Amino acid sequence: VITFENVEKNFGALKVLKGISGNIHRGEVIAIIGSSGCGKSTLLRCFNRLETINTGNLTVNGIDLSHPKLHRNVLRQLRTQVGMVFQQFNLFPHLTVLQNLTLAQRQVLGKTPSESTQLAKQYLDKVGLFDKAESYPEQLSGGQKQRVAIARSLCMNPQIMLFDEPTSALDPELVGEVLQVMQQLATEGMTMVVVTHEMQFAREVANRVFFMDSGIILEQGTPQQVIQNPKHERLRNFMSRLK
Ligand code: ATP
Ligand code: MG
Repeated sequence: VITFENVEKNFGALKVLKGISGNIHRGEVIAIIGSSGCGKSTLLRCFNRLETINTGNLTVNGIDLSHPKLHRNVLRQLRTQVGMVFQQFNLFPHLTVLQNLTLAQRQVLGKTPSESTQLAKQYLDKVGLFDKAESYPEQLSGGQKQRVAIARSLCMNPQIMLFDEPTSALDPELVGEVLQVMQQLATEGMTMVVVTHEMQFAREVANRVFFMDSGIILEQGTPQQVIQNPKHERLRNFMSRLK
């Protein structure tokens, strides 16, 4: 459902993605690991066109993202099909939880207030926050905010969910509740690409792990292969630094 071939991405003179290739199948959970600055976020952002690739081929859910220009309608289509959850939640602070969940449904999908409210409540319930519908983001814990952010993405009925270090900004005791929601999503068959430092999550939930190293995927395979039996020296070093 995502294929990329020889993808390069530069920021000026800085080469961040250096001819990276791979594919992700429908229903797969991919964990992306690697050191700071190796290009994990950049790759993820290419998948929903927050970044435009310089060269190579990239197709996401049937949409060709290889070209520098993309029609506005196609971009809108892509953004509804591909949800993204960030480390810093990115909720609208001046809107209630419910309003955060209904806004894009109405503005982008053209749903009525009652349709959008009904779906929002369904997803709030799913992430265990039905009773927080009228709260404002600042009244929530980090873990609750992140679960709202996930519910908000799900309201768009995405085919693919991207997560960029969704638990890195959380206090340790709040990490579990967010991972649990993500695990549930994985069980239901959602295609997920997750940049994470949570090795236990990668081990238990991911079908495949990509280890990125300075702009390429240096090693990939099952968690068993990549996490338990790393082949490359650099991956072994990375793993030992985590412990
Ligand atoms: P981290 O684990 O710290 O989040 P990362 O693997 O996600 O790191 P990226 O955010 O993809 O790394 O960044 C890769 C490189 O690209 C870094 O050197 C970064 O400074 C640079 N970079 C990222 N975004 C931009 C940008 N918009 N403009 C210029 N340089 C950028
Ligand atoms: Mg990053």
